Amino acid sequence: AAKGAGRNRVRVFHPDLRWAVEQKVLVAGELREAIETGQLVLHYQPIQHLLSGEVSGAEALVRWQHPERGLVMPGDFIPVAEQNGLVVPLTRWVLQEATRQTAAWERAGVPMVTAVNISAAHFGTGTLVADVHDALAASGLAPERLVLELTETSVAEDPVRAAAQFAQLRVTGVEVSIDDFGSGFSSLSQLVSIPAGILKLDRSLVAGTETRRSESAAAIAAVVGLATACGMRSLAEGVETADQLTLVRELGCTFAQGHHIARPMPAADLLSYLEGRRLTGRRPVRLRIG
Ligand code: C2E
Ligand code: MG
Ligand code: MG
Ligand code: MG
Repeated sequence: AAKGAGRNRVRVFHPDLRWAVEQKVLVAGELREAIETGQLVLHYQPIQHLLSGEVSGAEALVRWQHPERGLVMPGDFIPVAEQNGLVVPLTRWVLQEATRQTAAWERAGVPMVTAVNISAAHFGTGTLVADVHDALAASGLAPERLVLELTETSVAEDPVRAAAQFAQLRVTGVEVSIDDFGSGFSSLSQLVSIPAGILKLDRSLVAGTETRRSESAAAIAAVVGLATACGMRSLAEGVETADQLTLVRELGCTFAQGHHIARPMPAADLLSYLEGRRLTGRRPVRLRIG
């Protein structure tokens, strides 16, 4: 790669770094094709409403069914897609597919609320509101059945712009949630300026209860209190044990998500998962969240 001269010369000399750059170019080219040829799939992870115990919705999580490498996880291609702009067409596809699937579940008598992850890079393009609108129009899904998740760090990058876009999105009727809260360093003053309806506590807060239980419980309680005071509902992610589920319920979280409840699964498995819950006496679906 470090051959040739002039403006297009690739200025990479360290072998590891060069390998990393070549990987990125490779992923970028292949990913473009993957979006166009339908190699992306969504898995859905159930979200439990803690007061009722019912599954109220799911988070859509993208995977890449790669012809040679098998199922590739988002951590291995979303960061590249965010750098080269492919995350915008990727997210358009995710929005279209997740709303189509949620509308299909609704027709099958299973009214889910589905959350889709949005990248900060999408904010800058100015097409986010139109992309969301298009997906709702194409699927016929009611906007109340769609949640958009934005990370705390993406909000921190440009809080004024983020607040304006959140406000525009909420006008369309979709719910907005702040993802991975407690993992970054965004300020509380920024948080209160963002018109979001749900605050997702980063799984590191929940995981901390294993080693520093009382301090972590205090941190979770503080965040839940803040969310409640701001009129937001709270969701604990990364709940991996029965003990953690009990704890976040007692600390007043509205929702929980994690391996202890269910792992992300293909859309085709969700109905049988819900049926299994029904057969074991747990009510499968709560019509309205809140
Ligand atoms: P996230 O939005 O915070 O999603 C939650 C991640 O935590 C998922 O990883 C999920 O599988 C994992 N998880 C769920 N429960 C547990 C648990 O109990 N323990 C542990 N250790 N992990 C748990 P996944 O699917 O690998 O996704 C990773 C990240 O990739 C997501 O984090 C999100 O930031 C991003 N991502 C996923 N799908 C999309 C997408 O469609 N668009 C964009 N822009 N980003 C996406
Ligand atoms: Mg998320
Ligand atoms: Mg998260
Ligand atoms: Mg997270």
